[in-house]
Amino acid sequence: MNKLIKAASMIVLPLLLMVLAYMAYKNVQELSGPQLDLVMLAPYAVFLTGGILAWKFNRSREFFQMVIFTLAAASLQYLPELPGTGAAMTLPDLYAILCVLLPVNILIFSFFKERGIFSLWGLIRLGWIAAEAAAAVWVMLPEQKVLLERLQMELLPVNLQGLTPLSQLSLMIFVITFIRLLIRQMAYRSSQDVAFMAVLLGIIYVLQLDHDPVAYALLWIMSGIILITSIIQDSYAMAFSDELTGLPSRRALKQDMLKLGMNYAIAMLDIDHFKKFNDTYGHDTGDEVLKLVASIVKDVTGGGRAFRYGGEEFTILFPGKSIQDALPHLEELREKVAKRGFTVRGQSRGKGKRKGKSKSRSSGAGKQIYITISIGIAQKNEKSKTPDTVMKAADTALYRAKKKGRNCVSK
Ligand code: GH3
Ligand code: MG
Ligand code: MG
Repeated sequence: MNKLIKAASMIVLPLLLMVLAYMAYKNVQELSGPQLDLVMLAPYAVFLTGGILAWKFNRSREFFQMVIFTLAAASLQYLPELPGTGAAMTLPDLYAILCVLLPVNILIFSFFKERGIFSLWGLIRLGWIAAEAAAAVWVMLPEQKVLLERLQMELLPVNLQGLTPLSQLSLMIFVITFIRLLIRQMAYRSSQDVAFMAVLLGIIYVLQLDHDPVAYALLWIMSGIILITSIIQDSYAMAFSDELTGLPSRRALKQDMLKLGMNYAIAMLDIDHFKKFNDTYGHDTGDEVLKLVASIVKDVTGGGRAFRYGGEEFTILFPGKSIQDALPHLEELREKVAKRGFTVRGQSRGKGKRKGKSKSRSSGAGKQIYITISIGIAQKNEKSKTPDTVMKAADTALYRAKKKGRNCVSK
């Protein structure tokens, strides 16, 4: 259910923006001259905002897309007006080139790893975009007419000319790019690829229309906003989830604690002898164990919601539940962890030796080990009236569990 909501939330926003842009386009006849001027300028303001945001959040894919959009929008708007070019000549050529370059770049940039914007990799990507722009200008020279015609050649034995002004090559790239984004989305489940899919659909829709500057402007505005919202959505999600374990983070815990109602129980969990474990098998193996425990804790039953409190400690909130309600589920959890063996992979290192990654140093690789956790639980009552004090009481209970010999639940 949660997954479904997450998937829906990813799709709803781009969809809404597309509908909005479409409605704006249908009502655009009612705009006055100055309003129209504003609409024509707005894309650049959106691209600038998006570019700055992408830079701040280190999202090079969106950053370079903003650069590409700026070039495409400016060339469509201003190139035909340049002296000596002649709108009638330039516009169809430019259109044919953009029909190919816009989807091609979305496709290519979807393969690049995040490597920063103002880095050597970023510079190479900027160089690539500049080279494309230069190539586009070169192709538009009268001597290269043949090349341009190649772009519009029939590749398939079907006639689509009555259906769409797009060339077959362009259509094929659109389809390939869409499939690529779909596959990437299924693998990474990020809102980023959904955003790019929406942008791709927007582009293909607008390119179907007869060169309409207002439609172009609305497309750019919508595309920019969709990419911006995807940056914000992902950063928001990142801030509230723990990077190592994928569990909701302490920040999410703080927020959810404010939402607790009249009755609730809070449990604190701590892995036993974890320091020793780290020292014996190395910090990386420690991280693996942490992930394993987190994956078990995450599936806590009985209406609990798990968070990574910090380090090797977890918190579980049980809204509307008492200690008695939660206890069996915590016992079940403790048992699950204790029974799940962990196979030490690869190599370990001695205490403080960062470089101990060579196989010869390995001690315990392939060994099966067992981890236990201790749990303390408390509920809201006369003594502990706020979530903070209940949590402190749970922490004290956890301390008792440790004293009792660990691998147990204490109230
Ligand atoms: P106890 O049974 O009393 O809890 O013993 P302990 O060794 O687990 O003691 P404590 O909870 O104080 O130790 C926490 C250790 O957890 C310290 C640190 O080495 C380790 N740790 C904390 N965060 C991480 C992490 O993100 N990754 C790894 N690998 N280790 C961590
Ligand atoms: Mg601890
Ligand atoms: Mg511990």
